[in-house]
Amino acid sequence: MLKAVKVRLYPTTEQEIALAKSFGCARWYWNYALNACIQHYQETGKSLKLSVYKAYLPQLKLEHPWLKEDCYSAVLQCVAINLNKAYTNFFEGRAKFPRFKAKHHKQSIQYPQNVKVVGDCLEIPKIGIVKAVFHRPLRVRQSPRSGNPPSGLDSPIFGKLKTVTISKTPTDKYFASILLEIDGDTGQHSGDKTLGIDLGIKDFAIVHDGKEVTKHSNPKHLKRHEKNLARKQKKFARKVKGSNSRNKYRKLVALVHERVSNSRQDFLHKLSRKLVDESQIIIVENLNVKGLVRNRKLSKSISDVGWGMFINFLDYKLKRKEGRLVEIGRFFPSSKTCSCCGHVVDELTLDIREWNCPSCFTSHDRDGNAALNIRKEGIRILSMDGGNPVLADGGCVRPPTRKGKGQRSMKSEAHTDRR
Ligand SMILES: [Zn+2]
Repeated sequence: MLKAVKVRLYPTTEQEIALAKSFGCARWYWNYALNACIQHYQETGKSLKLSVYKAYLPQLKLEHPWLKEDCYSAVLQCVAINLNKAYTNFFEGRAKFPRFKAKHHKQSIQYPQNVKVVGDCLEIPKIGIVKAVFHRPLRVRQSPRSGNPPSGLDSPIFGKLKTVTISKTPTDKYFASILLEIDGDTGQHSGDKTLGIDLGIKDFAIVHDGKEVTKHSNPKHLKRHEKNLARKQKKFARKVKGSNSRNKYRKLVALVHERVSNSRQDFLHKLSRKLVDESQIIIVENLNVKGLVRNRKLSKSISDVGWGMFINFLDYKLKRKEGRLVEIGRFFPSSKTCSCCGHVVDELTLDIREWNCPSCFTSHDRDGNAALNIRKEGIRILSMDGGNPVLADGGCVRPPTRKGKGQRSMKSEAHTDRR
């Protein structure tokens, strides 16, 4: 199993200079290769292959000796591979077109091998032995070993180093993200609930465990920091380009962004940890978050709440304890279906928080009902999967759907439900 560990680095001034040179080389080669890709496409209408721009490297190192002197060669190989990935992600619709890298943005370089843990430090090729702060001691081994390592929050992590990414934030902090291959399972096996989760704006997550509903409200980090951010951004925009005070404000703005994203991640980690500890299976709606963010009115609060990140956190935490995340189709009418009798109402505008089913007269809390429907639908999908333990859960028959209504009601659901 793979595990990512992030540690803060404290390079000396000399090491900072060496890092700046490596960042510079990686950035220069990225921009060079990206430019070559764009030109090649303009001339031939075809994309440039990874092997082609990788093969530029020997010649480039002859023309620009600093490329060889200042930067570990495997780092440049990684740049080529990452550019290729960026292109693939773009072509498959997962990401925007790759961008040129600028000096004042976040900097990073990747080492596929040869970084070592030496006591409290990381030994990095071309940089030296850099002081690091580990939150849990790291015990690195050279070959796989048998038996489960001790688990718990303070016990060491045993693993083999895979790749190490060194980065520098716009606020001049240095980090190393270390990918480890670890033996066994460090997660806890407690909790075997099946949870259905409806994600929203007013409440971040509405969780139904089959018996009762729990609401987790959304901490509106961005709102709290928004005024502060707007003020600093305004001042930043007024400064003369290239001036010292503009650089100062660039850092201030980056600091506020950093604070927002730290507290958001903290919330998402804590909530996902809590839910995963309780459960074995979690069912969520497959959100086309990208599509939603395109809607300008909604974009700020949606990016703020970080649903996509939350689902990722749930997914990898569940995998660690061999649990499962089930995503159900995003056009499933979770809000408008009566969780009791399966009746689907034609319309349920967003201001309606409570409603009565016209068919069986059950009264519903909008969100709790949706979370319960998501849970039921997930169990139905899992039970079709075959041989799954949740089959024993019972009561998981799909509510009857009315013929001919499907398409229309599902579509309007997608438009109304997420505001
Ligand atoms: Zn009903």
